[in-house]
Amino acid sequence: MFFSEFEDLTLRNSLRLQSRARWYCEVGTLDELKQALAHAQRQALPALVMGEGTNLVLGDEIPAVVIGLRLKGLAVADDRVTVAAGENWHRLVEHTLEQGLFGLENLALIPGAAGAAPVQNIGAYGIELSDRITDVSALHVPSGEHRTLSAAECGFSYRNSLFRGNSDWIITGLTLQLSRDQDPCVTYPDLQRYLAARDQQVDARAVFNAVVAIRRSKLPDPSVLPNAGSFFKNPVVSESEAEALRTRLPDMPWHATGNGDIKLSAAWLIDRAGLKGRRRGGFQVSEQHALVLVNRDEGSAADLRELVAEIRRQIADDYGVDLEIEPVVYPA
Ligand code: FAD
Ligand code: NAP
Repeated sequence: MFFSEFEDLTLRNSLRLQSRARWYCEVGTLDELKQALAHAQRQALPALVMGEGTNLVLGDEIPAVVIGLRLKGLAVADDRVTVAAGENWHRLVEHTLEQGLFGLENLALIPGAAGAAPVQNIGAYGIELSDRITDVSALHVPSGEHRTLSAAECGFSYRNSLFRGNSDWIITGLTLQLSRDQDPCVTYPDLQRYLAARDQQVDARAVFNAVVAIRRSKLPDPSVLPNAGSFFKNPVVSESEAEALRTRLPDMPWHATGNGDIKLSAAWLIDRAGLKGRRRGGFQVSEQHALVLVNRDEGSAADLRELVAEIRRQIADDYGVDLEIEPVVYPA
């Protein structure tokens, strides 16, 4: 197996942060993955698994053995799909639709590898991965055992799971429970508006097409303007905090989480605070979508840190709300 030293990761992360890994390798089998971990142990370095690098904020130097996970394979059995970690997520969504298997259409066009999807329990337009997943296969690094974890064992919650920030587990594959029957979820206003304007039958294919079209029109394309999608999680606050804010900001959108708390829109707060378009060095709050930070001109990790600190400070000062970063920052 080949390990390259001081590998440039700039083109391997969607924020195009200039970053170098002490060691880098790509693995296509479980055995190669174990060899990569053995290399990390020999070098007394941690291992960092990477899918497609669309949810990572990398430092200038990565003192780790970075493992590009390229495990491939996909199997359909009745209405269950098992996919290897290295397959592309959006291609999986397309493939299941082509097979007449429904349930993933709201999660179309989310960038990244299938193996990374459980890490933050990817979600969009009212569906989360945890609504469809039955189990995850993963290598337990401390014991070297390859195990199957039930969905319950994965600890899924809003943009979070057992796997986030946890180097003990490397996901090698996952199984999804889909359906031959269609049950389209169109609870989000953008989807409703898009479909109503076209007056067409609301089936899974129509939802897929709508999600793809809306995302293309709303979100900056990382291959044109480097970004990591939403940079902040939507803050979840108590009902009384939300009420106090709504007295000051009557037009503020909010959504009940179902367990007594209220989810606010981080994009709305950032926009309202006048931060859209704010720039620090090469990084900018997207003019297109306030939740996305774009790398306009070879922005550095320091530029990004400065912009993030400014946004968090202003949102805390103006609204008393703490914004949490969504992508994984490495080193932490
Ligand atoms: P990476 O960035 O490579 O890795 C992310 C984290 O997961 C890292 O900590 C990494 O170590 C870990 N990891 C990766 N693979 C494994 C593995 N096999 N085992 C264990 N740990 C692993 N997310 C949403 O939830 N909803 C959206 O709608 C959405 N839209 C986006 C839109 C854009 C334009 C962009 C750029 C991002 C968006 N994201 C969204 C975030 C991102 O697409 C997801 O988090 C995606 O799952 C990341 O996949 P990746 O392969 O790029 O992961
Ligand atoms: P949007 O549809 O304009 O909605 C704004 C916010 O309101 C969203 O953040 C969403 O929360 C919430 N929302 C809207 N309708 C809701 C409903 N019926 N019930 C509960 N919450 C509701 O959002 P957008 O920015 O264009 O994104 C569309 C979808 O894609 C969202 O689900 C978003 O999370 C997802 N997305 C995620 C990323 C990422 O990197 N994580 C990037 C782009 C888009 P939620 O965010 O909780 O859904």
